[in-house]
Amino acid sequence: MADDTGVEALIDLMARLPGLGPRSARRAVLVLLKKRAQLMAPLAQAMAEVALSAKDCQICGNIGTAEVCAICADPRRATGEICVVEDVADLWAMERGQAFKGRYHVLGGTLSALDAVGPEELRIPRLIARVADEAAREVILALNATVDGQTTAHYIADVLEPLGVQITSLAQGVPIGGELDYLDDGTIGAALKARRKF
Ligand SMILES: [Zn+2]
Repeated sequence: MADDTGVEALIDLMARLPGLGPRSARRAVLVLLKKRAQLMAPLAQAMAEVALSAKDCQICGNIGTAEVCAICADPRRATGEICVVEDVADLWAMERGQAFKGRYHVLGGTLSALDAVGPEELRIPRLIARVADEAAREVILALNATVDGQTTAHYIADVLEPLGVQITSLAQGVPIGGELDYLDDGTIGAALKARRKF
């Protein structure tokens, strides 16, 4: 216990962050308290500013502080390729890979009968409009290899088909540095199906 209601409240809030339990939250708050000027004050100010200005990109659904995100605003990324992802975290992961030069479309989830998530709850109507507006050549489905992810991918492929755009999906298979013996059966099966000429 920190024995102080203000500090305890801060620890409770920090403990709600992913990857931080009560113990790590306490340690983090202690570091902040010891580095009030260098760390805590600038962090508090940055959080207050971003909390006020954060918004979804009007075009792709990425999160940032501008109406249109840096990727959508960059004319060099108008390649005619739109990469569809479930979540902003997936977009950021793709960007870390630095391999994709086109633009994104964040659905904001997957279709789920169980949770009553239909196309209208996701950004699917907006995607259909974008494919036409931007004369997209290719839509890359980079959805998670889960049942809901794959159901959503098939649904999107069906609704985009009449638009005549090429629809592709990420390959599934052996990860870089992966050893066959450690892979699950589903991954090995997917890798075998996606095999190509050596
Ligand atoms: Zn954007």
